[in-house]
Amino acid sequence: MDITPEDSIFPSAQESQLYSLRKPKGSEDGECNRTVCKQPAALYSNSTLKWYCESCAFDIQEFENTMPEPFKIFEKFYVGNNMSDK
Ligand SMILES: [Zn+2]
Repeated sequence: MDITPEDSIFPSAQESQLYSLRKPKGSEDGECNRTVCKQPAALYSNSTLKWYCESCAFDIQEFENTMPEPFKIFEKFYVGNNMSDK
């Protein structure tokens, strides 16, 4: 799956119209902070301090979980420190 950069600062005109009808992207009761995603926000990111839908949160944390010392971005999907012994 492609990871879309989240650095799109200026939304298209069409999207701006939608934004005026909705809560800001990435807010608690708005929609997922991921640029391409339109799903309602469900989980809070400790990394970006924004809200994401469950499937994006899973993707983001799943990728992080592959790191030797994953950062706890979404506690729900966090698997802990891979370097520590069981
Ligand atoms: Zn999403």
